[in-house]
Amino acid sequence: MTGQQPQPEDTQLHRLCVFDLSLDCGHIATVAIDGWYPVSVACCERLGGTIQGGVYVPYASHVEYVNLLSENYEHRPAGTPRDATRLLGRRDRTDAPRQPAYGWDKGTAGRFPARVGATWSIDGSIAQVVPD
Ligand SMILES: [Zn+2]
Repeated sequence: MTGQQPQPEDTQLHRLCVFDLSLDCGHIATVAIDGWYPVSVACCERLGGTIQGGVYVPYASHVEYVNLLSENYEHRPAGTPRDATRLLGRRDRTDAPRQPAYGWDKGTAGRFPARVGATWSIDGSIAQVVPD
């Protein structure tokens, strides 16, 4: 908040942020959010999911680390709905399995995803294939 200019009383402050969210599924999602960052987001199907009535719903990925890339404030008319969260990009976290490149290099067995998920059908139905 600037506090410099008087604002009309019928406005509300929107906090417009761009975050890099490090997720436990092994992705880093870059998202634009009107507000503060969430504790979990829908990202991918790596962690498994559930099926009910033939509808597959993947588990949400939890946010482990947050990097704030930009932050802006805007006064908007009161009652303005918050902007929908937008996914700007998604990339792998940098510890994918790899062989050591040199004798002193450790390499890594990979740490992500934190767990490998399975699909669990609540009512015994199977996911339906939806043609494009
Ligand atoms: Zn993911």
